[in-house]
Amino acid sequence: MQVLSPSTLAEALEMLAAAEHALTPVAGGTDLLVCWHQQPKDDLHVLDLSRLRELQPLRLTDDRLELGALTTYWQVIESREVSRAFPLLVQTARQVGAIQIQTRGTWAGNVANGSPAADGVLVLMAYDASVVLQSRDGMTEVPLDRYYTGYKQSVRRPGQLIAAIRIPQRERELEWFHKVGTRRAQAIAKVAVAVVRDSQGWRVVANSVAPVVCRCRDLEKALTAGRSFQSPEEVRHILRKDVSPIDDIRSTGRYRATVLSRLLYYWLAENGRGA
Ligand SMILES: Cc1cc2nc3c(=O)[nH]c(=O)nc-3n(C[C@H](O)[C@H](O)[C@H](O)COP(=O)(O)OP(=O)(O)OC[C@H]3O[C@@H](n4cnc5c(N)ncnc54)[C@H](O)[C@@H]3O)c2cc1C
Repeated sequence: MQVLSPSTLAEALEMLAAAEHALTPVAGGTDLLVCWHQQPKDDLHVLDLSRLRELQPLRLTDDRLELGALTTYWQVIESREVSRAFPLLVQTARQVGAIQIQTRGTWAGNVANGSPAADGVLVLMAYDASVVLQSRDGMTEVPLDRYYTGYKQSVRRPGQLIAAIRIPQRERELEWFHKVGTRRAQAIAKVAVAVVRDSQGWRVVANSVAPVVCRCRDLEKALTAGRSFQSPEEVRHILRKDVSPIDDIRSTGRYRATVLSRLLYYWLAENGRGA
């Protein structure tokens, strides 16, 4: 196993560009270490990001929140300003794993790992976040809802690192996050949902119901058109193009579809869009 430990971002990007073997970036390690024991170590080339101070800061301005790629869930939980400006980030962070995971795990690691059950991705997508990708050749910013190209696949190229995640500051009328798991802590979502209505419209995002965390675009369009719903079945019907839940060790596709449509229906009804 080879471990490279750059001390500046420029050095890290140079190492990525020049690498003969694919380098695996490591931030908090909470995803990577789960399958560490299964990996053949001879062929493992690791890029340790922990010394890159450029990736540390969390910055809140009038326009946006920027989470440097090493920002942990705990740093967000501890920030009163973030809690006021983006309450769903804090609610979500409190339900990722438990304190040990929250203090090590990063938002960027959650995005890069690309699990369909990722809670961080869910709420970031609902807040219309974008991903800042940096390579030796420059920087590019990709909306998070266009970042994934398939199950655990993304537009990020091997020479690029996630440098930051940006979330726009907007007036919001409604925001809601709900996660269904076996327990309140240390539980990967059976299904989770986040809804935001802001000055740009509706975003309804679900996890664990498709190969990637997904926006429920037909439901968003219906809500924008002012539609109300008479039953959970109506919501379920409108979700059918965007979600395709499967059976796995955590749940069944049927349970996920039922719970997602009921959660949404009852929350919408409470907010004036139900029978
Ligand atoms: C017990 C336990 C409970 C968990 N509970 C939850 C949960 O409830 N909800 C949830 O969503 N997740 C959960 N997770 C998963 C994990 O904690 C999160 O996905 C975490 O955010 C990953 O961040 P990390 O910094 O630890 O990533 P790492 O493990 O360091 O990296 C994860 C992936 O991202 C890549 N990567 C990391 N940083 C960058 C970067 N800057 N640029 C490019 N690639 C990068 C790595 O190469 C790797 O492929 C849990 C994990 C464990 C072990």
